[in-house]
Amino acid sequence: MKATKVFINGEVITADQSGTVHEALAVKGERILQVGTTTDIMERCDAHTEIIDLNGKSLLPGFNDAHAHLELYGTNQLGVNLKQEDSIESIIEKLQMRAEETPSGEWIRGWGYNQNTLLEDRHLTKWDLDKVSTSHPIIVVRTCGHISCVNSKALEMAGLTSQTPNPPGGTYHRDNEELTGLLLEAAHMEMFQLADYSEAEVMLGLQIASDHFSQNGITSVHDAGGYGTKHIRYLQKAAQEGKITQRLYVMYGSLYDSPSVVKAGVESGIMTGLGDDTFKVGPAKVFIDGSSSGPTCKTRDPYKSNPNDSGILYMNQNELDRHLLPAHKQGWQITAHAMGDEAVHMLLTTIERALNHSGNINHRHRLEHAGITPPDLVERIKSTLAVPIPNPAFLYEFGDGYINDYGDRVHHFFPLKSYVDQNIPFAIGSDSPITTVNPLIGIHAAVNRTSKHGHPVGQNQSITVEEAIRAYTWAGAYASNEEDLKGTLEPDKYADLVILDQSILRCPSLQLKEIQVEMTILNGDIVFEKQKEDAH
Ligand SMILES: [Zn+2]
Repeated sequence: MKATKVFINGEVITADQSGTVHEALAVKGERILQVGTTTDIMERCDAHTEIIDLNGKSLLPGFNDAHAHLELYGTNQLGVNLKQEDSIESIIEKLQMRAEETPSGEWIRGWGYNQNTLLEDRHLTKWDLDKVSTSHPIIVVRTCGHISCVNSKALEMAGLTSQTPNPPGGTYHRDNEELTGLLLEAAHMEMFQLADYSEAEVMLGLQIASDHFSQNGITSVHDAGGYGTKHIRYLQKAAQEGKITQRLYVMYGSLYDSPSVVKAGVESGIMTGLGDDTFKVGPAKVFIDGSSSGPTCKTRDPYKSNPNDSGILYMNQNELDRHLLPAHKQGWQITAHAMGDEAVHMLLTTIERALNHSGNINHRHRLEHAGITPPDLVERIKSTLAVPIPNPAFLYEFGDGYINDYGDRVHHFFPLKSYVDQNIPFAIGSDSPITTVNPLIGIHAAVNRTSKHGHPVGQNQSITVEEAIRAYTWAGAYASNEEDLKGTLEPDKYADLVILDQSILRCPSLQLKEIQVEMTILNGDIVFEKQKEDAH
């Protein structure tokens, strides 16, 4: 059988169990035909075969981002990006520019601010945002996606006053009784729902998001949810219309009131696995606690930075059981956002109870994030055969804050080395747009465990490049029960591939994050190719 495309003279990293590296690979249509030496593979060529010379560069299975929010990522691109702003003043200026071109009464949406990196070293308030406009509702989301600030107009539209009690699992921040506009957790989620984008905007956002993911070598995404069941429909529609160039595994949940979305899914009679290899229903997912960088995640011991605070719980153990056990009983994979060690403990308790009910050995129940995970919890992950989904790029972006908030607990934060030692499969996700979608930053952080400012963040948990690659490829496929279809470079698997601009195995570890994606291939077709640089 002749090949449609061959890749020769390269570093073909198969990401298989024994870490095999070949020189060349042949593709026939949408599948991998063969791996081997350049000589072997050239024998598969005829006059119609496209020959790509890798010149020593790496060819890998396409990256599988096991936890990302496509809709949020995409709609963020439509809003005002505040990630680089370093003062409240410059945030106000940037929002004013958007206000000038936005009809009054329409939403102005910004995202990505972090009070810790602002000159003023404080959160935004409604008084800041009222300087931008009092005729537009304004929402500015913090980088964590769990906290936002709105102006007076938005508070008014939501009907919130100083008399309004806090919602369950959320806080309307107050100063002397008066609302400041700062909204935490459920209070934020509720407001974000009100500031919803239209279907046309979401579709455009999804297409932009998918393009960016392809530019980063990502061929599969486990979508971790947007707002409500319509989010799932939008994703399916975008996939059907060819706007998305990744295989999607879609968690059934929502950033706002996930229990009711899970309940609707379970009652509809479907279960995990429905769909095909381009769009598939994933696990039932709820939120247990807050974010790692806020910090609002639920920890066993108080934060080092604040002895009176140990985070926010969205639900107690009974509620968690009540939301997820029916899903398990009906054949769903179950998962939850569990960041702090108390939340990870709760999710493991629910998984243990599920398995006591019926010991399906292939359940592959997941733990989204599993941030602070000390040895006793790693032990329980091992014995339940659950699959953690860590986000090492957080260590790079938020590592300095972690040292401040959690102290020595950074040694148990995303304990990748413990997972490797205990033979626990774990799949890496970016949690983009919370942090960069770039898998090379995730791999860099998993290997080096240094923050952006170069501080070590639990380097006892560093893993090798090969281990990080396998966690970003094969393990994602394992976490969606698709490792027979994709995730390694072996004959008959889908030709979902990424070519890097150099050899990743020979790259000095501190330069891993500089590596760029040169080409992305999905189903045997090129979906991204980096422009050749000018000869000048
Ligand atoms: Zn997430």
